[in-house]
Amino acid sequence: MSIQYKNSDYKNFDNIFSNNEQKVSEKFSLKEEILKEKSSFQKRANSVGIRLYMFQTGTLKTKLKYIKMNQSNEDFEIPVPWFYIKHPKGDVVIDGGNAKEVSIDMHDHWGAVVAAYEPVMGKFENCIDQLHNIGVQPKNIRYVLQSHLHLDHSGAIGRFPNATHVVQRKEYDYAYNPDWFSKGAYIKKDFDKPGLNWQFLKDTKEDFYDLYGDGSIIIIYTPGHSPGHQSFLVRLNNTGYVLLTIDAAYTLDHWHDKALPGLVCSSVDSASSVKKLKQVAAEKKAIVVTGHDPEAWSTFKKAPFFYYD
Ligand SMILES: [Zn+2]
Repeated sequence: MSIQYKNSDYKNFDNIFSNNEQKVSEKFSLKEEILKEKSSFQKRANSVGIRLYMFQTGTLKTKLKYIKMNQSNEDFEIPVPWFYIKHPKGDVVIDGGNAKEVSIDMHDHWGAVVAAYEPVMGKFENCIDQLHNIGVQPKNIRYVLQSHLHLDHSGAIGRFPNATHVVQRKEYDYAYNPDWFSKGAYIKKDFDKPGLNWQFLKDTKEDFYDLYGDGSIIIIYTPGHSPGHQSFLVRLNNTGYVLLTIDAAYTLDHWHDKALPGLVCSSVDSASSVKKLKQVAAEKKAIVVTGHDPEAWSTFKKAPFFYYD
């Protein structure tokens, strides 16, 4: 059986069809609009997704010779940097500077080493209070990355309840049993805490460790200053690559092969590590941030007011 349509029916169909067509095309362009909006939102989200904040827990008053091997006894005051990375996959603290207790009673917390490295640290210059200033809660930190375990880098350990602490196995073991010349630089109570979640990296076997598997934070094994020292390469959308040498190069003099560290476990390794980092910096056209250079450090934009993205 076939249905007979009248002329007027066809007209109706036409109307319905063209109405639908308009609706479909409206719908389509709306979908396109949404997709466009979504992708630009994604782009914006990505571009603000990773941020690098540069903090410091005050300074250390020391002598030039303790920073640059065999140099003079003249006074030298160095910043104590640490870093926070806001990351869509989980926030990261690098080092955390001095422990909070140093600002309360430096002699009690650091002991005799204060004679060589005297901390100048305000009561709220610890990493917890500084993160609080930019609205970051301790529970939000997913990783604490340890360049090494020296006293001016161990301030974040055990302060973030959900954090995994990443350190070189060699550094961790050495910190419990250091040689006489570096004994003063390790404050056991900073890293020997109950209930810590550690992740140990295996030197050359896990070199260039990609923390999130997306190339945004790379951990580079750079021994010499300490047996298990590591440096960090951070990739940011607008800034590009930033290389945090930490103590693999205390200052630009160390970076430019004009000085060895005043405190060193292996001068040979230290020189090789600088060479290795220079290659990385050249390849990635990275901005180089040295560990404790008062002049170079003053040129960077500092948290809490500024960050790199
Ligand atoms: Zn150090």
